[in-house]
Amino acid sequence: MKKFTRADEPQVLIDNAATWNKEYAEKKTANNNYNFFWRTVNGEKLNRMLYPILSLQTQHHCSFCDKYPLDRGDDTIDHFYPKSNPEFYHLVYSWHNLYLACNGCQKSKMEQFDKDLLKPDDMHYQFDEYFQYNYNSHNLEPRVDKSDNHQRKAKVTIEIFGLNHPDLSKARKHAFERFINADEKIIDDYNFRFIL
Ligand SMILES: [Zn+2]
Repeated sequence: MKKFTRADEPQVLIDNAATWNKEYAEKKTANNNYNFFWRTVNGEKLNRMLYPILSLQTQHHCSFCDKYPLDRGDDTIDHFYPKSNPEFYHLVYSWHNLYLACNGCQKSKMEQFDKDLLKPDDMHYQFDEYFQYNYNSHNLEPRVDKSDNHQRKAKVTIEIFGLNHPDLSKARKHAFERFINADEKIIDDYNFRFIL
């Protein structure tokens, strides 16, 4: 999980998020089967409006596993605080709750949440503070020289996002080998930038 800096909140959310959040919370509280949907604003779907901004802030990489490039259909928007959890109904359109995510990370996380889950745009987050990379297994590991609290956060984050799924470890091995053998090393052209 590579650190990134969150872009400024888009005007459409500054103008509408509070109202939409309130509406969703009210409807979902009244009827648990009420489904979330992306609003249409001036004929354009809100998620389509947000993708370019979310994508630019991670240089078009998945916010969590750093997969790149993300094809259309593999560029979902994750609600970090799940929209199915009554505690977080009021955050469903909040800018800081929305992350560009690949299908793999979305499918692994689903509606899970843990208070120790790490956020890549948290100002205190740094990959090296929590994770170490095993260049033999190509797995992520909690950093053993950090506190128990740090290690728990790393462990929870690896589990919830499935960051050591065998497919991901294999893909990281290939990315690493490709990188060390490349003549020209443009980091943002690679996935899993935290291992390079
Ligand atoms: Zn991902």
